Amino acid sequence: MTIKKKIIEILRENTGKSFLDSGDYLGRHWEENQKRNFEEEERVFVEVYTDEKGKPVEIITYRNIYHFLKEHLEYDEECEKLQKEFDETLELYDTYLDAMEDFFKEKFEDTTGLINTYNYDAPISQSLQFIAARGDMDDWILLQVHNGCDIRGGYTHPKVFKVDDLDYFLIEISSIYATCEKCEYEEELEHGYISEDKIDEEKIRKKDGKIVHKCGGIINFI
Ligand SMILES: [Zn+2]
Repeated sequence: MTIKKKIIEILRENTGKSFLDSGDYLGRHWEENQKRNFEEEERVFVEVYTDEKGKPVEIITYRNIYHFLKEHLEYDEECEKLQKEFDETLELYDTYLDAMEDFFKEKFEDTTGLINTYNYDAPISQSLQFIAARGDMDDWILLQVHNGCDIRGGYTHPKVFKVDDLDYFLIEISSIYATCEKCEYEEELEHGYISEDKIDEEKIRKKDGKIVHKCGGIINFI
């Protein structure tokens, strides 16, 4: 199975309806994801909030989880093998998290411990819950995507992948870079966020659907 198909399958995995879901109007990711054409979507989503005069007061950027996972993960026979081993341990556990942690800690010496990106305000379109590891040859990850509505429930079945470069994965998941096409302006946006102070300082404005810098150059988010 190609990595694209594998990721789309996860993003569309039915994680059910939870009594924790506060309202159907928010929608569940897995339901919305049935109709999306991920490949044609942008890598980074940009939301601009403006005042009554149309001046931006807040810009929020976040990664499209599909492109993010596609760019960082690999799936091959070794992953398949490890997945099978992991799945066989599941009957011993009540929760996925305990199973994930024990499995990776037994397999690898150097692990990240369990991480939920929601707790770090990671700029990504759906939260990830994972444990990752540096192996002898490859970096590995065992991850769940949050496909539900309420953050306390609605996680997918944990899946094993190889990570192209774990350090880079961890950097990209925590921030987004704004770069100007025309001048030297470049900035790391923590949590993908641009405050009003920063907008005023760099005279950032919205023009024809693009985010434009004070020099007139278009700002890209990578
Ligand atoms: Zn510029």
